[in-house]
Amino acid sequence: MTVVEALTHALDADRVRVDADARSARRHDYWMVSSLRDRQGRGAPMPACVVRPASVADVQTTVRLCAAHGAALVPFGQGSGVVGGVIAGPETVLLDLGALNRVREIDPVNLTARFDAGVNGLVAEEAVAALGLTIGHWPQSIALSTVGGWIATRASGQFSTAYGNIEDIVYAVEAVLPSGDLVTLGRGPRAAAGPDLRHVMLGSEGTLGVITGVTLSLRRKAAAQAVTAFAAKTMQAGFDFQREIVQTGWRPPVMRQYDERESGRLHADARDCAVIMVHEGPASLVAAEVEAVTTLAAEMGLAPLPPAIVEHWLGHRNHVPGWDQILDRGIVADTVEVSAPWDRIGAVYDAATRSVSEIPGCLAASAHSSHVYRSGLNLYFTFAIRPDAAQDMEAAYFESWRRVMTETAAAGGSLSHHHGIGRIRRDWMETELGATGVTLLQTLKRALDPAGVMNPGVLVPD
Ligand SMILES: Cc1cc2nc3c(=O)[nH]c(=O)nc-3n(C[C@H](O)[C@H](O)[C@H](O)COP(=O)(O)OP(=O)(O)OC[C@H]3O[C@@H](n4cnc5c(N)ncnc54)[C@H](O)[C@@H]3O)c2cc1C
Repeated sequence: MTVVEALTHALDADRVRVDADARSARRHDYWMVSSLRDRQGRGAPMPACVVRPASVADVQTTVRLCAAHGAALVPFGQGSGVVGGVIAGPETVLLDLGALNRVREIDPVNLTARFDAGVNGLVAEEAVAALGLTIGHWPQSIALSTVGGWIATRASGQFSTAYGNIEDIVYAVEAVLPSGDLVTLGRGPRAAAGPDLRHVMLGSEGTLGVITGVTLSLRRKAAAQAVTAFAAKTMQAGFDFQREIVQTGWRPPVMRQYDERESGRLHADARDCAVIMVHEGPASLVAAEVEAVTTLAAEMGLAPLPPAIVEHWLGHRNHVPGWDQILDRGIVADTVEVSAPWDRIGAVYDAATRSVSEIPGCLAASAHSSHVYRSGLNLYFTFAIRPDAAQDMEAAYFESWRRVMTETAAAGGSLSHHHGIGRIRRDWMETELGATGVTLLQTLKRALDPAGVMNPGVLVPD
């Protein structure tokens, strides 16, 4: 019996889809290379079947049958991942969590909400918003992604500087391990019960189990909001300004800094290196923070910019052009997010943008920062390359990535901030973790998934 036959036999008939529409729609995620290969007739094949579990028990059955048949199992949230975390093979079982979509419980006293892993991010936010609460996690892809996907990729939201990344917001994780056993990790607001095993699932990218349930901690919606914007003469001047703000103890949820090229794209009134902020909280705190950053900006030589720039960003922040519009013009493009401590971030910015701009056919090499910490911040590079010949597009794409990774590592940065590893970054895992760190990850993978069926080819180097 094949694995598809075994699944069809074990699950309700409508849970296992073998029609071309279902299989074709979930062949890959939003990685540009997969779209490029589709257009060049070299796209990912269809999976053997798509399983849409209706219960945690269905997930356990699927995981056990895949292990028994040695069939690759690829979890799929909504396919908004951008690093090649989902690519089907002809023998692959694609596990689409989309039918596990219940809001299980919202607890307004303890400020927690329990969701099935397949709940769409915006649906989750709207469910708690109806009670005057917020998750405070606003990835640009909030409407395109699932709460389980957020955990699996260690996602970051646009308001992270005050509200944290997903690892700061998650309260408990329920997952089916590759053995088929169910585990729930996280019982209280904090524990000193050995290593925090929730982190085995955070960033696991479908390689260590299937996340089936997620409990997130919530906040009351902010009573007040204000925006500010300033122009820094150089990227370094903007970094110094941001460092002073967070190290003094202020926490604007949104702090973003654009280089000159991206400031021009942000808004007609933005100039130099625009730094924009959204301030939220009790009205007195917001007023004090606005006054403090405005005073600091004047002291540090940054000029005020019109608040309309930030209002415009708030209104348009989730609009992204599709890959087809770019590929149609013979251009490959992508974003690459990294992080670095304060004393290295300027060097990372300079080296990576310079190196990418030297690639033949480079149309853009720019960056902004969007997530700020007491010890440093991220950079979000954008590149666009139009090679002379269409057959060189993929090579130009990989060369751009190689240069950002190499220059970031050489300048002392960390190679990923929030999109994860997938396939595109896997070869740099040793640079990021060291050889012993890679061995530790491989050991964990072998211990949990001895049959090697969970999302092979992703995250863990061979
Ligand atoms: C326009 C756009 C904007 C984006 N903006 C942001 C942003 O602001 N911040 C950010 O962090 N990311 C962003 N992303 C990336 C992406 O949205 C995130 O990585 C998101 O968390 C992926 O969720 P998903 O449900 O779509 O997962 P998928 O893309 O379906 O899967 C991603 C990976 O997680 C695994 N996976 C998914 N669900 C599960 C599960 N239940 N159990 C185990 N493994 C699972 C998959 O196997 C895969 O390896 C953006 C993407 C796009 C296209």
